[in-house]
Parts: sequence; C-alpha cells; structure tokens
Amino acid sequence: EESSTLSITVVGASGDLAKKKIFPALFALFYEGCLPQDFSVFGYARTKLTHEELRVMISRTLTCRIDQRENCVDKMDQFLKRCFYHSGQYNSEDDFAELNTKLKEKEVYLSNRLYYLSIPPNIFVDVVRCASLRASSVNGWTRVIVEKPFGRDSESSGGLTRCLKQYLTEEQIFRIDHYLGKELVENLSVLRFSNLVFEPLWSRNYIRNVQLIFSEDFGTEGRGGYFDQYGIIRDIMQNHLLQILALFAMETPVSLDAEDIRSEKVKVLRSMKPLLLQDMIVGQYKGHSKGGKAYPGYTDDPTVPKNSLTPTFAAAAMFINNARWDGVPFLMKAGKALHTRGAEIRVQFRHVPGNLYKKNFATDLDKATNELVIRVQPDEGIYLRINNKVPGLGMRLDRSDLNLLYRSRYPREIPDAYERLLLDAIEGERRLFIRSDELDAAWDLFTPALKELEQKKIVPELYPYGSRGPVGAHYLASKYNVRWGDLEDA
Ligand code: NAP
Repeated sequence: EESSTLSITVVGASGDLAKKKIFPALFALFYEGCLPQDFSVFGYARTKLTHEELRVMISRTLTCRIDQRENCVDKMDQFLKRCFYHSGQYNSEDDFAELNTKLKEKEVYLSNRLYYLSIPPNIFVDVVRCASLRASSVNGWTRVIVEKPFGRDSESSGGLTRCLKQYLTEEQIFRIDHYLGKELVENLSVLRFSNLVFEPLWSRNYIRNVQLIFSEDFGTEGRGGYFDQYGIIRDIMQNHLLQILALFAMETPVSLDAEDIRSEKVKVLRSMKPLLLQDMIVGQYKGHSKGGKAYPGYTDDPTVPKNSLTPTFAAAAMFINNARWDGVPFLMKAGKALHTRGAEIRVQFRHVPGNLYKKNFATDLDKATNELVIRVQPDEGIYLRINNKVPGLGMRLDRSDLNLLYRSRYPREIPDAYERLLLDAIEGERRLFIRSDELDAAWDLFTPALKELEQKKIVPELYPYGSRGPVGAHYLASKYNVRWGDLEDA
C-alpha cells in the first residue's frame, strides 16, 4: 500500500506504560523497517506538552538493539521527527475533532489509524466514543488497542464490551495481553505442533500435572493504588496465566488463522471445571527484616488501605473436563514480593511403569519423572529433565537437562512483547489478541470464586517479603499429589 499513511495515536502518552513500552516498541519497529513509509505517531493526553517536549520525553527511553550501530542516532532523529503531540481531554469530542484535523494534515490519500489506549480503564469508553465519532479514518481502517484491565468480573467486563461495541466492531478491538507477545509463549504452539516428540505425549496419558508459575521479587512499593482494587488473581491469573493454559491445552486448530486458534482456546476455557474456593489459596506479604534490612509489608504501602484483604499471592488447582485432560491438575501460582522473579510453564510427566532402574535412583522415584520446563522470563529457555546414567563403571542414575538456553543459542536480543503485538495490530493479525468470547469465558471461570472470596472476606495467609510464599500453596498442591517445581531449580 504505497499511497497509504499509518497514524498511530498513543492516548495517555504522558503515562508510564507509554514511556516504558509503547514508544520504545514503535521505535524498534521503525528501526527494523516494519512501519510503512508514511507514518506518524501522535501522543494524546491532558498534560500540556509541545511536540519538542514530547520528543525529549520519548528520546530518554529509546534504545537500539545493537547499540554500536552508528546509524542508530540517525534513526532516532528520523523517528522523533515523525512524533507529534496533541493535548486534550479524554471525554471531549471537540478535542478529538482537533486531533482529526492534525492527523489529516499528515495523511496522504488513504489513511489507516491505530489508537493505543494507555489510560486508566474508567476512561476507555469516553475515548473510544470521541475517537470513533470524530477521529476515525474515513477511507482506511481504524483499530483500537486496549490494555487490561478488561473489567473486574463477568458483569463489568461484559458491560465494558457492550459499551465499546456501541462504537467499534469486534474486528476493530485489539485486547492486548502482553504475555501472548512473549517469545516463549508464541513458541509453545511451535514446540508442540511441529515436533513429533511432544504432541503425542500431550494428554492425560503421559502428563501428570501442569504448573503455571509467576513470581515477582518486589512488592507494590508505593504504587499499590491500582493493584489493591484488582489483586493478583485478576492482575495475573485470570489473564496471563489462563491465556498460557488455554494455548497449552487447546486441541489442534484447523489452521493458524486467528479465528481458528481463538475458537480452540475458547473451547478449552469452556471445558474447564468451575473454580471453587476450596481449590484456591490466597496470601499477602508482610514486613520483616533480614540481615539488618527491613522489608515492608503490603499494607505498609501508603497507597494501600491498612485493612486491605487483597491477595498479593494466590494458587489454584484447575481441571479441564475433556477427553484429553480429564483429571490432570493444572496448577497456577502467582505472587509478589517472593524470593525470585520469573514466569514458567512446568510439565511433569508420569512415572515410567515398571521402571527397571528403580533401585538405581539416588532420590525417590517421585522426583525422577521427566519434566519439561518452558521459562518465559527472565533468561528464556526450554529444558527437558531426563534420567541419565552417571558415567562410570557402576550403575547410578541422575537427573540431567537437555537444555535450550536462548541466550547461548540465539544471542541476538529478543524483541519486546509489545513490538510483536503492535506489529500484529498494524498488520491486522488478531491471533495474539483476546476475542470477546474468550474474555467472557475467562471471567466466567474466575468470577464465582472471586465473589465468594470477597463476600466471605477471606483473610489471606501472611508470608514474609522475599520468602517462597504461604505454605498453603503446598497443601493445595499435595491435595492433588503435586509437588511444585522450583523456579530456581534450573
Ligand atoms: P498511568 O501512567 O497511570 O496513566 C496514563 C495517563 O493517563 C497519565 O499519564 C494521565 O495523563 C492519564 N490519567 C491518569 N489517571 C487518570 C485519571 N484518573 N483520569 C484521567 N486520566 C488519567 O497508567 P500507565 O501505567 O501508563 O498504564 C496505562 C494503562 O495500561 C492502564 O490501563 C494500566 O492498567 C495498563 N497497564 C499498565 C502497565 C504498566 O506497566 N504500567 C502494565 C499493564 C497494563 P494526563 O494526566 O496527561 O492526561
């Protein structure tokens, strides 16, 4: 499309996410030659800024993937020249009409428009209304990327979708879950569907349990205002971990088309057993001191109410009631202020029936099953735990790893998830975005348990900042004969 222009408007351009992720990702796409010839980037927010002030702000966070390339500074200049700013209110049609005028000045014959809503959720609908009524493309496409949270339960999420659909069609809405843009999550389907050795094992016949683990080694640290209204279950489990689960467990899609993949994900989500409170545990970190250093508790955060019951940790056991996964526990665990940082998928395989080498294992047999670990972040990698003969004249077995460590195999830096997702939105590729029926199914799964948790005012189990989390998570796992894999056990 030689004669078309792409206009990208970042709404909430003065904010944290825009600075940290969106502008740098747009620059990376420009740097890699992935943006069309004619494009412009507009920042939109209430803060008063000149074009130049926006450029200075953005330039602080741009980086080049390979720093020593001398044309990088040039490229940055070229990119910044295409960045503009428009200050306006989020609920003012007139302000968006002015934006429209400015966009038109930069646009040649055919124009496509992408809006990125990097703003608090309570103003999503205002912006969508104003932008769609007054600043849509008249001859190309108009697409809107929305950031989480998409509501806080089934009702509010459904309400938000209905409001958005007053102004946009499903095809125009790109709900982002940045975990789906992560390299190793995208690779999940490649691993499974293009290697003969994995797919045949991908069922209850060979897999004992699947673990989805998210861990942060810091707390809210003064930014708990948003988090306290949502909690870890809504912030991490209902979206990121559940999306990974759906991709992991779905049946083979008819094709790699977005609609085929998303339909399979919805099927898995709808096949899941309703999540019960008894299959869930919640925790909250408390302050403590260690080695002369004091670590704050969650409720010590001045932006968090003193009596908050919001979980900063949760674990859940889930089941998929279909032929492939009947009875296999899918365990999720997510927490803040834990001892380590990372996100992993761990697949524990069944025991070898009638194992000939039973007596040659140093550890108990339960620990000696195969395990496939997909490390999503940090230090991306995939490894497979196998039992192996320790070289020598005796017959002793140990556990070793077939290890694909990305930093040694693929030394080139991995693109940020936002780059992948922005590029897909520009190209109209919807595979990695959440369709509304998927979102509904995800909320339906979690909403009853979340409601019960809140109505019964369940008190979270306290765990010390920097620890491995509440012991309740281990009781929950052992109820289903599962032992958590350890993130540091690489
Ligand atoms: P933010 O900095 O709090 O807000 C972005 C911009 O929105 C602000 O610069 C401000 O711009 C405007 N704004 C803030 N509060 C407002 C209010 N109460 N009413 C009207 N406008 C307000 O948010 P963010 O961290 O960039 O995140 C943007 C969106 O992404 C949010 O929906 C967030 O939940 C989501 N998200 C963020 C992250 C992250 O890493 N930060 C990760 C995942 C999802 P002006 O005052 O200049 O108008």
